[in-house]
Amino acid sequence: MQTLQVDLGERSYPIYIGAGLLDRAECIVPHLAGRQVAVVTNETVAPLYLKRLSQTLAGHELTPIVLPDGEVFKHWETLQKVFDGLLEARHDRRTTLIALGGGVVGDMAGFAAACYQRGVDFIQIPTTLLSQVDSSVGGKTGINHPLGKNMIGAFYQPKAVVIDTATLATLPERELSAGLAEVIKYGLICDESFLGWLETHMAALRALDAAALTEAIARSCAAKARVVGVDERESGVRATLNLGHTFGHAIETHMGYGAWLHGEAVAAGSVMALEMSRRLGWLGEAERDRGIRLLQHAGLPVVPPAQMSADDFLGHMAVDKKVLGGRLRLVLLRRLGEAVVTGDFPHEALQATLDTDYR
Ligand code: NAD
Ligand code: MG
Repeated sequence: MQTLQVDLGERSYPIYIGAGLLDRAECIVPHLAGRQVAVVTNETVAPLYLKRLSQTLAGHELTPIVLPDGEVFKHWETLQKVFDGLLEARHDRRTTLIALGGGVVGDMAGFAAACYQRGVDFIQIPTTLLSQVDSSVGGKTGINHPLGKNMIGAFYQPKAVVIDTATLATLPERELSAGLAEVIKYGLICDESFLGWLETHMAALRALDAAALTEAIARSCAAKARVVGVDERESGVRATLNLGHTFGHAIETHMGYGAWLHGEAVAAGSVMALEMSRRLGWLGEAERDRGIRLLQHAGLPVVPPAQMSADDFLGHMAVDKKVLGGRLRLVLLRRLGEAVVTGDFPHEALQATLDTDYR
């Protein structure tokens, strides 16, 4: 097991990473405020892991809250089900919510914890690779609004993050690859040596080798914890975590949510960011291709959808959250392992990036 710490003063918390942690009471129980616990999970994850977690929490007063599965349910009515469950079982302010599932469950359970009786404790037990390396760390919680994704939410940090790498054994392969897009992202934005490690260990990761997974997740969480530790509320460097995301969101929106997984869109978007960084003279061709090859080895798409024109991209990107004062800002690479957030580039470089034939 590896243990990391997210340093946020009195809101600091540990991240435990290893195979079989679902059964390890010592990782979870010390972080419970009282006897009451509500496990928020979904219809897919509950049959797989709820019973084991319940056994680990034996002796506690446990309320399972099982939500429907899917991003389309990440809204008010589902959140209301969490409050229904808590109030019906008379949970008081010393209760602890445990999120058992992927990022959808984690974001909703975290937001519910932020709101219930003006804030109760919560613990993240993420079960997708994406949630293990990204959404469970950093305290962004929330739900979608019909007019925008993740538009309603709160910054609210968990008391602990417990990552059982063995839960990935049941995850569909496509979801595993989607998580690898965010893992590779950390190497690209802040750790070139991690890219080298990933090149050597990609096959082991895709074969779910426990030691390789623990190492990759720990290095990813450490990178995220470092960034969040200096910029919790995204006023600066935290935005570098969005490498490939502005192009990626355009793909997700254009293709309709669900057609491309988030990580798949981020992968193709990262290829576009690599290409644009090359056009600005910051990366050489070999470096760009090194990034692309790694994404490819992770089983990810590296070509944006053929039916999307440059104007399609520009239309979607104009509404991106990073547009400040009318200027589009992008996360680009000064070199492999160093990202910048900048609006200071000639439009022709962006236009050429969007006009590039990636096939
Ligand atoms: P998800 O939560 O929808 O999970 C993907 C699928 O895998 C679901 O069907 C889920 O039920 C299933 N699943 C989960 N664990 C499983 C397991 N161990 N075995 C088998 N199936 C399993 O998707 P995700 O990719 O984990 O998360 C995406 C969400 O995370 C989005 O809503 C996104 O907005 C959010 N997100 C939040 C942050 C943040 O900082 N808060 C960061 C990134 C993403
Ligand atoms: Mg992401």
